[in-house]
Amino acid sequence: MLVVGLDIGSVAAKGVMLDRGRMHRAMIPTGWSPRDASEALICQLLQMSGREREQLDDIIVTGYGRIAVADAGQVATEIKCHARAVAQLYPQVGTIVDIGGQDSKVIRVNEQGRVIDFAMNDKCAAGTGRFLQVMANALGLDVSELGEHEDPNHMVAINSMCTVFAESEIIGLLARGTSKAGIIAGLHQSVGRRVAAMVRRIGIDGEVAFTGGVAKNPGVRRALQEELGCQLLIPEGCQFTGALGAALLGQNS
Ligand code: ADP
Repeated sequence: MLVVGLDIGSVAAKGVMLDRGRMHRAMIPTGWSPRDASEALICQLLQMSGREREQLDDIIVTGYGRIAVADAGQVATEIKCHARAVAQLYPQVGTIVDIGGQDSKVIRVNEQGRVIDFAMNDKCAAGTGRFLQVMANALGLDVSELGEHEDPNHMVAINSMCTVFAESEIIGLLARGTSKAGIIAGLHQSVGRRVAAMVRRIGIDGEVAFTGGVAKNPGVRRALQEELGCQLLIPEGCQFTGALGAALLGQNS
């Protein structure tokens, strides 16, 4: 079977093609048009694989932009897709933490990879990738640089829960000459603490996997591990977890 899974996220659009045991991956900024992003991804994946569009057996779309891609074969929720991919990668995992650009989720799955409970924060930017992007901007860094610039030994507590107030707090701290590295560690800790509280509401069963683009940030990984008191399993290509799950759902349908 030749299937494509697309995850049209708030920040990045990700695509995974499964082609007889081979996997191709592509990622682009979502931009303003989820439809254009999905078309561009399909073209890239076809080019990478040397396949023709007519050869595609199925396309499964997930992510916030999925409703805009009406001509896709199937749509699936991100929760279902992350659960499907993690069940394949780590059958021992019972709890999944997914932190993306605009929301964070905690998903409990059973041994078969079926979702048995979940919690989602999509009302507030704090505890999401957006929070980190705003803070990186205030610090004059790219979001991908935050992890390497933190110093947890000189952590500065960030007291504001709201993204807008936290940004003002950071600007004030910088003006007073506070160490950037300590501020960054404090930001990671605040994300870790918020998400860990959500994990405790849903409960930990088995091992814990961390997925989504924010799992690429070693500072958030450190903070979340500290807050939860356990090691996290992070897939190689963590940002592609949703797209991989979508493709796997297509393969099985
Ligand atoms: P969405 O599906 O909503 O687009 P993603 O799961 O793709 O979200 O995650 C996007 C977030 O991942 C960004 O907001 C950013 O915080 C984080 N991110 C992306 N790339 C990196 C990177 N190289 N290093 C650290 N964080 C990253």
